Amino acid sequence: MKFIQFTSEENEIISTVERFIEERVRPNVMVFERDNIYPQQIVDEMKELGLFGIAVPEEFGGLGLRVPVFAAVMEVIARGWTTLAAYLNSHSTVAHAIKAYGTEEQKEKYLPGLATGEHRGALCLTEPGCGSDLQAIRALASDEGADYRLTASKTYVTNGERATLLLTLVKHPKQSAEEKTKFSLLLVEKSFAQVQVTTTFHKMGMGLVDTVQIEMDRVAVPKANLLGGIEGKGFHYLFESLEIGRIAIGISAVGLAANALSEALRYSSERVTFGVTIDKHQAIQLKLADMATKLVTARLLTMEAAWMKERGGRCDMISAMAKLHASDAALEIAHDAVKVHGGAGYIQEYAVERLYREALLYTIGEGTNDINRIVISRRMTGDEERAYLGLVR
Ligand SMILES: Cc1cc2nc3c(=O)[nH]c(=O)nc-3n(C[C@H](O)[C@H](O)[C@H](O)COP(=O)(O)OP(=O)(O)OC[C@H]3O[C@@H](n4cnc5c(N)ncnc54)[C@H](O)[C@@H]3O)c2cc1C
Repeated sequence: MKFIQFTSEENEIISTVERFIEERVRPNVMVFERDNIYPQQIVDEMKELGLFGIAVPEEFGGLGLRVPVFAAVMEVIARGWTTLAAYLNSHSTVAHAIKAYGTEEQKEKYLPGLATGEHRGALCLTEPGCGSDLQAIRALASDEGADYRLTASKTYVTNGERATLLLTLVKHPKQSAEEKTKFSLLLVEKSFAQVQVTTTFHKMGMGLVDTVQIEMDRVAVPKANLLGGIEGKGFHYLFESLEIGRIAIGISAVGLAANALSEALRYSSERVTFGVTIDKHQAIQLKLADMATKLVTARLLTMEAAWMKERGGRCDMISAMAKLHASDAALEIAHDAVKVHGGAGYIQEYAVERLYREALLYTIGEGTNDINRIVISRRMTGDEERAYLGLVR
């Protein structure tokens, strides 16, 4: 897809990624998936193309893409193979958080490595006892002079096995009964002593994206690795960074949906029942029309969120809407694509079987869709949001 609002250089980047996906990725996806092969060669080529640096500014070696261009590139990647988008999603959220809030020292230390993929970023928020309710985390960073002493159990960490840099949500011990709990984000290097992957989870889909539990047992984290250098800013930094994460998930869902609709269109133009290809049956046409309409609305809403993010200011309502709507749409489109395939839709030789399983994850990750609904309902009564929604008093 070409975007008229983009510069020719930005469109060239998108076209380059499209060529890479069409030539190097799409022809091989089914084999990687069937044989459960980690696509090391493809990942190396992604590094060469600079894709690990899509959220890193140029001055630190990244592509420095504007948010809508970042989203367009992510859609192309996810349309080819959602697994590759998953290698970049939380990695890019980590890069964004450091870019937006890191100290100069943190930016210089970590952004160049994140840009090349030498450093792989992962988000450590969820714990065995809590995911939606992050205020309930138990990860504790105590003050020990030059270091924090961190004890934490973080779970469902995407790319946690291969990640080298873990953006970790922690709380600090209260100094008095009256003090409010302070939360911070720490940049924990996987190589720090006593950081250990203890469990690798087997999932419904995206088997080539590792999802793990990580234990941090009295880990010495230098105070220089407190994101932004100020204690207690963790939620502020996190919620703004999750807006990028939600846009990334929303647009990945759009990519998946475009792939599912492409498969459904192709199959319906080949499969013959009652003497005609099934795309001649009105019931199939109606389904395809609904799928296409949902795809476009999901893309428009997510790109709207990306433009709002690019313009600056608060965009938690719209990014939550994009993630909610695009992931629900992707799940419905993937389900309809399975239906268009009849029995073949349940067979692993057809991509839609996998897409349907994968789509479910987008309704859970980056906050479940119900949690995103709560974010929207809380924000929509604000003056700016009411005006945006075109509500009357
Ligand atoms: C494959 C995968 C990858 C993931 N990757 C990461 C990662 O990289 N980093 C990371 O930190 N986390 C990751 N997660 C965790 C994910 O973000 C959480 O699973 C998700 O936020 C939900 O948290 P939970 O599982 O604890 O569910 P819970 O919080 O226990 O929620 C259970 C159910 O209750 C609902 N619920 C909870 N509270 C409310 C409420 N107040 N009102 C209404 N309904 C409510 C939820 O919507 C959900 O339906 C990943 C999860 C999966 C499955």
